[in-house]
Amino acid sequence: MTLTSALTDKLSEKRIVVAGGFIGGKWNTVSSRGKVFRVANPATGEVLAQISDLSTHATREAIDAAHAAQPGWAALSAKARADKLKALHRLMVENANDLARLLTLEQGKPFAEAKGEILYGAAYIEWFAEEARRVYGDTIPGHQADKRIMVIKQPVGVVGLITPWNFPNAMLARKLAPALAVGCTVVAKPAAETPLSALAIARLMEWAGFPPGVFNVVPGTDAAAIGQELCANPKVAKISFTGSTNVGKILMRQCADGVKRMSMELGGNAPFIVFEDADLDAAVEGAMVSKFRNAGQTCVCANRIYVHADLYDAFAEKLAAKMEKLRLGNGLEKDVTTGPLINEKAIEKVEALLADASEHGARISAIGDRPEGALFYPTTLVTGATGDMRIAREEIFGPVAPLFRFETTEEVIALANATEFGLAAYFYARDISKVYKVAEALEYGIIGINTGIISTEVAPFGGVKQSGFGREGSKYGIEDYLDIKYLCLSV
Ligand code: ADP
Repeated sequence: MTLTSALTDKLSEKRIVVAGGFIGGKWNTVSSRGKVFRVANPATGEVLAQISDLSTHATREAIDAAHAAQPGWAALSAKARADKLKALHRLMVENANDLARLLTLEQGKPFAEAKGEILYGAAYIEWFAEEARRVYGDTIPGHQADKRIMVIKQPVGVVGLITPWNFPNAMLARKLAPALAVGCTVVAKPAAETPLSALAIARLMEWAGFPPGVFNVVPGTDAAAIGQELCANPKVAKISFTGSTNVGKILMRQCADGVKRMSMELGGNAPFIVFEDADLDAAVEGAMVSKFRNAGQTCVCANRIYVHADLYDAFAEKLAAKMEKLRLGNGLEKDVTTGPLINEKAIEKVEALLADASEHGARISAIGDRPEGALFYPTTLVTGATGDMRIAREEIFGPVAPLFRFETTEEVIALANATEFGLAAYFYARDISKVYKVAEALEYGIIGINTGIISTEVAPFGGVKQSGFGREGSKYGIEDYLDIKYLCLSV
């Protein structure tokens, strides 16, 4: 129930985060069982905060608060809701440096990246504040002479948002913004590794004057219990989840009984293809940003880098040269480009994948220094990667770049699609006819063509296959929080 000086010393506005849940407009700093959990800095191991460890009971209270607040919130004009979101957007931008430091402290990513995430998250708030006023319905010519048909769109109701630790601000911002814009109310469950960014958003919403109960946060380590309550409670109309495919499947099963609506942004296994006519330097640059952002811990990270045989050696050499310039370290230190991994389990997973790749004949080269601190993993190049390695099938979630060799377009499209995932794919090519054909053939929800960065609030983010369903951002993202109702009037 406290924040430590390892955290507050780094903040200029120390009131920006409170060490407890936010339920019905009140800060719950003592849980029913009085339990607390620690949040630590993955770069140093220092404890940043002890937070009330909430579970089923608090989740139910938060759902009740959201349910009570929902009709009043939905009854406001779209402009009134948009104005609150704009106020939140302004506060996020004004406090971006503190929010970014908080994010670096709890998550580990370098400060510049953290600040980018805060502004990216804020951009979703602004976008959906603008979209709030454009939830148009429809009129349809009646099927009989006396019939008039109208289509209206209404908020689904209370939504449960479950978010991961890799983008603790932006993943929440891009769910809460469309939800609140259309008149839904929210119960958010942040990851236990990184609850502070979500609590800071709640604080800013309190300052922005959102009515009590419209936005609630339930931090806790018993994710299964909180998730179970969100999925089973009939007052919750919808779950939006970003996280692993396995947990997504558990949530889908739990939501089946209530036929609860869902949006799912799950795992990825992004192919990054460099064709023979690619601009080699641009492809290397794109691979660097796609692979190493957030130390390789993003669901759209290049996971399998396929390079045409003609360019393979040159690409490997240029990529290694760029990787040498990366600097691992504490994200609050100047010039650090790559932070630690989130926890010991993440390190073990990367080590296991590399051991398997090595057993199957890959060449593993750790590049650059590995600073003190157990959670740093050296940026690593893997050459000679092949499809029979685990690294080809599983999300690496670490700063490891495996290079696969290919010969023909047909071959690489088949390889790229040979996965149950379908979130993001990237390719570099200049032949315009090939660009269209490959983009259409790749079974992914997002395709980066001659670019390694695809995330923006103006475009629909989401996957196909076992990477999930639903879209976040853009005009499409708002539909996930709306029900369609049709009125049939006899005149
Ligand atoms: P990751 O592997 O990236 O940590 P997870 O899917 O485990 O992904 O976590 C994403 C979010 O899902 C986090 O907020 C986590 O606490 C939550 N979570 C994990 N297990 C469950 C569960 N059984 N029910 C509900 N939420 C869960």
